[in-house]
Amino acid sequence: MDLAAAPPALLVRRHLHVAGEWVDPAGDDAIPVENPATGEIVGQVPAGTPADVDRAVAAARAAFPGWAATAPAERAAHLDRLHTALAARADEIARTVAWELGTPLKLAARVQTGLPLTVLRGMVDLAARPAPEETVGNSLVVREPVGVVGAITPWNYPLHQVVAKVAPALAAGCTVVLKPSELTPLTAYLLFDAVTEAGLPPGVVNLVPGTGPVAGEALAAHPDVDLVSFTGSTATGRRIAHLAADRIARVALELGGKSANLILADADLATAVKVGVGNAFLNSGQTCTAWTRMLVHRDRYDEALDLIAAAAGAYRPGDPFDPATRLGPLVSAAQAERVRGHVDRALADGARLLAGGPDAPLPPRGHFVAPTVFADVHPDSALAQEEVFGPVLAVIPFADTDEAVAIANNSRYGLAGAVWSADEEAALAVARRLRTGQVDVNGGAFNPLAPFGGYQQSGLGRELGAYGVDEFREIKAIQR
Ligand code: NAD
Repeated sequence: MDLAAAPPALLVRRHLHVAGEWVDPAGDDAIPVENPATGEIVGQVPAGTPADVDRAVAAARAAFPGWAATAPAERAAHLDRLHTALAARADEIARTVAWELGTPLKLAARVQTGLPLTVLRGMVDLAARPAPEETVGNSLVVREPVGVVGAITPWNYPLHQVVAKVAPALAAGCTVVLKPSELTPLTAYLLFDAVTEAGLPPGVVNLVPGTGPVAGEALAAHPDVDLVSFTGSTATGRRIAHLAADRIARVALELGGKSANLILADADLATAVKVGVGNAFLNSGQTCTAWTRMLVHRDRYDEALDLIAAAAGAYRPGDPFDPATRLGPLVSAAQAERVRGHVDRALADGARLLAGGPDAPLPPRGHFVAPTVFADVHPDSALAQEEVFGPVLAVIPFADTDEAVAIANNSRYGLAGAVWSADEEAALAVARRLRTGQVDVNGGAFNPLAPFGGYQQSGLGRELGAYGVDEFREIKAIQR
């Protein structure tokens, strides 16, 4: 680790953010925050309790009528000030994400910091628009903020996942209690530093850090939370849906994925492979939309394998603060262990190791896993079916487009996907056949204003853009 890049001291945060103030937690327990590239503890936050959640929900409830009644232009002005205050912290955010998650600094600046700032900027404009109204026969149909939102977020994009919930909820006129991931809570504190500086009305947005089973469950089960917006694993999403079902509260769930990248026979193979490998290994493969199954037409298969192996070799794991590093560590020892388990299982299942694997060289410490590629992966095997959430790519050959679509749709997930072909119309036709919430054709760029979400076990509802704001609204019909 480059000492110049090390945090000046432990990043210790002792408070919750409730009703516009930094307040003491009810309990004394703390959660250490680890630097996964070194295993060293770099920070600490309070372990929030159900009593802390109660207090934060009460603050959000008290703030709701005033915020819901605030004119859209004024809500937008608040979000604009929040954007300015957050943008001023861009360098600190990128460094904090590199410390607590291990994302290489360059990527942390572009994706972990730049993307949420873009999303927030877009939400300023959307917040300024009055909620859409329409006339249906003798009815006036209006949309109103749903109420108090409990937002529970994962560690893999610690600011983006938070902004993707908090910003549209506030834009819609809801108030929020946020419980960020216990593995990467420090980045969320920077957002609340910005909330304080921007002078958002007290209680409109509140922060309770803590573990999933304690603070997370208390928030998801809270009788005064109207909507639980969750991003994380499918298993936890299922638990949250059960908790919310007891009181028929609404849920929005952004869950796991096992996305397929379809490379048709006439594709620009070099580009498709380069972008496809980069996508699979982005953020060390800890990306819900990662194209972790690469499906290649048999006519181009051998050629593709050579290109894939060469591309994977460029992702040398290393120090996130070294500008040459393209692959950081996994977030935790447990996550690295889980990923190694998937690699061992794939070897036992007879997949052909093309790159990486258990014996590939790694930095001497930290939770690193080598970028790993398996060829000839059976579409029904565990590696093709289970979300690995690490730098592991499964390559699968196909004979024709129908088979490619069948393999791609052979998944309980349905979050994202990609299609590559020289014939854009043909690629679009394939994109329409994929049972997923997102598809990129020939490397189409991520659009932060487009709806984002999953089919099947990848989730319920849509985030981002105008669809994302609507997620936080109720619909009322008034007959005249
Ligand atoms: P996770 O489900 O373990 O945790 C997510 C959040 O839920 C954390 O804040 C955690 O504290 C909390 N939590 C855990 N148990 C809880 C409980 N019983 N009640 C309430 N809250 C609880 O997920 P993770 O490991 O942080 O993130 C990785 C997963 O997230 C992957 O499966 C990935 O695909 C998914 N993910 C999905 C998207 C998407 O938009 N679809 C985006 C990013 C990550």
